[in-house]
Amino acid sequence: MAKKQFKAESKRLLDLMINSIYTHQEIFLREIISNASDAIDKLAYVSLTDQNVGLSREDFAIRITADKEGRLLTVSDNGVGMSRQEMEDNLGTIARSGSLQFKKDLDDRDKADVDIIGQFGVGFYSAFMVADAVTVISKKYGSDEAWMWQSSGADGYTVTACEKESAGTDVIMHLKPDTDDEKYSRFLEEHELRMLIKKYSDYIRYPIKMDVTKTRVKEETKDAEKPEYETYTENETLNSMVPLWQRNKKDVTEEEYNQFYKEKFFDFEDPAAVIHLSVEGAVTYKALLYVPARAPYDFYTKEYKKGLQLYSSGVLIMENCEDLLPEHFRFVKGVVDSQDLSLNISREMLQHDRQLKFIAANLEKRIKTELKKLLENEREKYEKFYGAFGRNLKYGLVADYGAHKDLLADLLLFWSSKESKLVTLQEYADGMPEEQKYVYYAAGESRERLAQLPQLDALKEKGYDVLFFTEDVDEFIPQTLQKFADKEFRSVTADDLGLTTDEEKKAIEEKKEAAKPTLDFVKETLGERVKEVRLSPSLKNHPCCLTPEAGLSFEMEKYFQRMNPEMGLKAGRILEFNPEHPAFAALQVAVAQDPEKAKKYAEILYSQALLMADLPLDNPTEYTDLVCSMLV
Ligand code: ADP
Repeated sequence: MAKKQFKAESKRLLDLMINSIYTHQEIFLREIISNASDAIDKLAYVSLTDQNVGLSREDFAIRITADKEGRLLTVSDNGVGMSRQEMEDNLGTIARSGSLQFKKDLDDRDKADVDIIGQFGVGFYSAFMVADAVTVISKKYGSDEAWMWQSSGADGYTVTACEKESAGTDVIMHLKPDTDDEKYSRFLEEHELRMLIKKYSDYIRYPIKMDVTKTRVKEETKDAEKPEYETYTENETLNSMVPLWQRNKKDVTEEEYNQFYKEKFFDFEDPAAVIHLSVEGAVTYKALLYVPARAPYDFYTKEYKKGLQLYSSGVLIMENCEDLLPEHFRFVKGVVDSQDLSLNISREMLQHDRQLKFIAANLEKRIKTELKKLLENEREKYEKFYGAFGRNLKYGLVADYGAHKDLLADLLLFWSSKESKLVTLQEYADGMPEEQKYVYYAAGESRERLAQLPQLDALKEKGYDVLFFTEDVDEFIPQTLQKFADKEFRSVTADDLGLTTDEEKKAIEEKKEAAKPTLDFVKETLGERVKEVRLSPSLKNHPCCLTPEAGLSFEMEKYFQRMNPEMGLKAGRILEFNPEHPAFAALQVAVAQDPEKAKKYAEILYSQALLMADLPLDNPTEYTDLVCSMLV
């Protein structure tokens, strides 16, 4: 029979497994066992509503058989099984995101860094790390046909009809020959298997059974002076079956929490925080939640699915229960197990389920508390977390018309220009001099650019701190929050920074008269490109700057230009001059004596103001020509 070929992606992964020099090859067993457990989960779920399954919870089991002579290790389950098509689909391609993620990360990293293999759910193919041939015999629940999938590696696989009594799957692995470096036959040894199952699969919720050899005193010699011993076989359950979240918090080590997280949620880094809850009361439930330390590669895409695994009395009823997590905490991973949820509840019903809502509201609070704790006690860890998920918190704050702003505001961090580090809004407020009227922020592409803004000078002089906003979403935050610590937010490019004293205002008023011909001249030269030309009370070291007309800021203009360029949305430009600056004096002289030259000055100063505001020049070539013309 002609062999079918693996899909290209899968073939690469397979090659990798076959040629793996990875020292933790033992994890293949964990992978095969967890597939078996998933398959049983599926049938257990069917059996809740389908009497025909004929199996009850106690009947489900995973069996391990080791045949030393034949070098065969078999993992059998009485789960849901696979049809012919499913075998083709599932075993011929990289099925799950876990495997895909693994492949991707491997592509991203140095290929030699094989150490990450052990951290991933690498799936079915990992069998090829230890086996040179793999046979899968399976019968799908509800079908009379059984099928056999066989492959000895990269050259492809076959699927043929076969016999199998009941639904379920046997994965039969023929172990590679032993070499000097690697004794594959150890995976047939009872103590080794026992150790591996304890280590990696202890919390699997179905018994993992194996015939083990034991010794006992012969019955008839038990009273003799020298009792004789005999060996016998016993079918023993090797795992304790208690899932981590059901255990008592004080009996679980940090290492166990982390290990569980990494295996279950396919991360290779320890989580930033663990939340283990056991709640009794109106609704009784247990939850084990994790705050990851880094964002999954697809986190900010549509592909990412938020949700927690939902169990009801130990039966998995939903892989990704979205309703348990609010959008702003969508990065949280974990498990919720409650006996109070009805088992055969449908997706739609679940959405309206009162108990579920109650749990979700509770979890939201606990997550908030935990993040706050992290922020207060482990700042470095929090900042790393914030680097990965801060953007999501900000989106959460501005979403739903700010419905969650009180929950989220104190979790935000922004770059402080004064402190040169990330600060919370509260920390900013605490550092404000008494007379400071506003919470100042500057929005732009990068911190480096923002630090150069001419408008900062006056604030700096007063000792006021400015928060740097460098993400698209940032500027929507002042709009949503309006105020913090009773102070309004104010962009440094705003019209009135609340800095000028009455005297300064008066001084500007006085200068206005003398400057009027120059200001009018510039307005006329620039025409519709500027809304207004006026003197600035706040400029200290720079000759001029641009200020947006009330309503739309320059950063928002840039944002909308990126999102929807056709709209051509533009913020009104107000050109402000520093009356004390020599450049302005030169302009004044030119206006009076040489209007042609004054026009050039006006163009140059306007272009410079555009550049400082990080706005595009209308015509860069014209600008450079103009500057050059002044040099000769
Ligand atoms: P993953 O388990 O990550 O999805 P695997 O490569 O381990 O990826 O397995 C691919 C798919 O093959 C599984 O998703 C499942 O549909 C199917 N499968 C594997 N083992 C079994 C099994 N013992 N019983 C039923 N289906 C299985």
